[in-house]
Amino acid sequence: MIEFQNVSKWFGALQVLRDVNATVAKGTTTVLCGPSGSGKSTLIRTVNRLEPIQKGQITLAGRDIYAKDVDVNVLRSGIGFVFQQFNLFPHLSVVENVMLPLLRIRERSRAQARPVAMQMLERVGLADKANSLPADISGGQSQRVAIARSLILKPEVLVLDEPTSALDPEMVGEVLKLLRELSADGITMMCVTHEMGFAREVADRIWFLRNGTLTFDAEPAQFFSDEAHQDVRNFLSAVR
Ligand code: ATP
Ligand code: MG
Repeated sequence: MIEFQNVSKWFGALQVLRDVNATVAKGTTTVLCGPSGSGKSTLIRTVNRLEPIQKGQITLAGRDIYAKDVDVNVLRSGIGFVFQQFNLFPHLSVVENVMLPLLRIRERSRAQARPVAMQMLERVGLADKANSLPADISGGQSQRVAIARSLILKPEVLVLDEPTSALDPEMVGEVLKLLRELSADGITMMCVTHEMGFAREVADRIWFLRNGTLTFDAEPAQFFSDEAHQDVRNFLSAVR
């Protein structure tokens, strides 16, 4: 589904991705972890060209995302992005936030968009909050709304950058539960997280980045075993 081939990126003189080679298979969940500054956010942001790369190639469903005929708006509408900060529009209700991509990108009428958004809110368990403002719901609920919004255009891939890091501890579980369900439904997912319990349980592959290099790419059983790369074992003993 997504293939990274020798992907390298520099910010000025600073190289932040070094010859990353890896594949995300359709319908699988990939968890990215690694120390702060290792390039996790940068790597996932390359997928929809939020961060241009200087070397290598990224293909999505077989298409080079930098091919001349790729419309970046179409590319981005096929990839759902969820950030640590939920980025909901504070002046719009929950359901209006979820509808927005349908209005703006698909040019649907409000009458067409609203029932689709309501269905998505049902899916994330928040239909009863449809008319609330973001300020009046919890952090965990806000992140579930952001996830609903990111899924409304039926993206090929859902990409999440530390979706639970900004949440109070008691809200983390509800978001991880939703992600676990989406993973079980077969959505293709890339998720940066330090939630190692989630990674162990839900990931099909876990990638470990250090200093821009993908030093380990394994199934959870191997990742959490004594055979894992020394970097991984050091990292795990630090986060546990
Ligand atoms: P964290 O766990 O703290 O979120 P990360 O693994 O997501 O870290 P990135 O944010 O991808 O790391 O950053 C990788 C490197 O690129 C870091 O050295 C960072 O300082 C640098 N970097 C990121 N964004 C920029 C930018 N816009 N301009 C210059 N350097 C940047
Ligand atoms: Mg980051």
